[in-house]
Amino acid sequence: MTAKSDGDSRCCHEKAVALGVEHEVLNPATEAVVTSVPEVTAAEAETAVRRAEAAAVVWGGMAPADRARLLRAFAGLVDRDLEQLAQLEVAEAGHPIASARGEAAAARDVLLYYAGTPERLSGRQIPVAGGLDVTFHEPLGVVGVIVPWNFPMPIATWGFAPALAAGNAVLLKPAELTPLTALHLAKLAEEAGLPEGALQVLPGRGSVVGRFLVEHPAVAKICFTGSVPVGQSIMAACARQTKRVTLELGGKSPNIVFADADLEKAAATAPYAVFDNAGQDCCARSRMLVQRSVYDEFMSSFEAAVRGVVVGDPRDEKTEMGPLISAGQRERVRAFVPADAPVAFRGSAPAGAGFWYEPTVLAGSAASMTGLAAWRDEVFGPVVCVVPFEDEAEAIRLANATPYGLSGSIWTRDTGRAIRVSRAVQAGNLSVNSHSSVRYSTPFGGFKQSGLGRELGPDAALAFTEEKNVFIATD
Ligand code: NAD
Repeated sequence: MTAKSDGDSRCCHEKAVALGVEHEVLNPATEAVVTSVPEVTAAEAETAVRRAEAAAVVWGGMAPADRARLLRAFAGLVDRDLEQLAQLEVAEAGHPIASARGEAAAARDVLLYYAGTPERLSGRQIPVAGGLDVTFHEPLGVVGVIVPWNFPMPIATWGFAPALAAGNAVLLKPAELTPLTALHLAKLAEEAGLPEGALQVLPGRGSVVGRFLVEHPAVAKICFTGSVPVGQSIMAACARQTKRVTLELGGKSPNIVFADADLEKAAATAPYAVFDNAGQDCCARSRMLVQRSVYDEFMSSFEAAVRGVVVGDPRDEKTEMGPLISAGQRERVRAFVPADAPVAFRGSAPAGAGFWYEPTVLAGSAASMTGLAAWRDEVFGPVVCVVPFEDEAEAIRLANATPYGLSGSIWTRDTGRAIRVSRAVQAGNLSVNSHSSVRYSTPFGGFKQSGLGRELGPDAALAFTEEKNVFIATD
């Protein structure tokens, strides 16, 4: 399950692709082939499950301090290979190098954070008559972590780090388009000294390898991040085995700007809240709600900020936004901006090779937006809709008028309003006067169709355990 380099025999490679057992990884900024990765067959996946079952016994039975030490060693190797991991993320996902370095550092930090878990995964002692009652958090055994292509490295780590910390073996299925950082991380886990098979990466198609993990009775839990339809189908399949499942799905998050906000700061930061990672971010604030009394003033500063977003070569340290992940994704995004779309202004993007799409701002009244797919659905591209609102009640109503509920931002200097609106917006991750969404030390997840369960934060490892109650009679 290792990637082949460009230097491998082209003839063998073409044969393998023809047989459908390899997947070409493209650089989205150039459309050049980075490498090709063999897809795991059903027989190989079965072997991986068996290996994971054996690894779970060794890893789960290890002294907590030893597991902690090995996870710290793993984090240390991620730190050593930070630049290599960042460059892989640039090559396979087109992320700007500055962001990719941050993502590799985040992977290290998530591992370090959960390295503290094995020695702190305490149960409780509950007062009862006639004996001692204690609880344990037992590992589940083998866990499947299925991840998307938009933030391949951080999202994989959010799943496998707490799962490993709780004593499970992990089978990680990366997205077809972005398997490279996952494959490298698995090598580092082995080099750090984690038992063989404790973290295995299974590249391949969702409908084949992903499905295999979901349906395999030896896989005790699926931790899935991806689209709503696939998440729903996974949940339905898990239900047939009463399999544990965590879902992190899509979003259509608001950025609410009240008239009393620091408008300059709100406008200057708004492009990055939606165009970061070319809008391919489940937390993208793709619906801007701006109080009518400051709408014109805000839009003029926002326009300058959008035109200032540096879109270009991801290898350039000054680049702020790279390309979309694939030709297919660009077609999908284009379809959200039909010829008669109410385009207010646009930023720039390079021409030529690469899956480029310029930051695009659509604007209009709430009523005029009703029929527009870009207002209603998750675009997962650099397209934002801006709509004016009258008062707090209307802002809350518009913010909640979506089946999603992942994140959102609220800009106001009124603390009471900040609290009222934060409590009223139906979303799992809100930020006031900032666009922060994800910190490894705080819980992350969605309301409504944005997901089920939470990742990250102090309790994430518990979601990879079963709570066991034991009563010991003293009589
Ligand atoms: P996707 O649902 O198409 O695929 C996600 C993963 O699931 C991939 O690894 C894919 O191979 C696998 N998969 C596909 N079909 C499967 C099946 N039938 N059984 C098992 N696995 C299957 O999503 P995507 O296009 O890769 O990613 C984009 C979506 O992910 C967006 O909707 C976005 O909002 C969402 N996302 C959510 C979060 C979050 O934390 N809430 C984070 C990132 C992305």
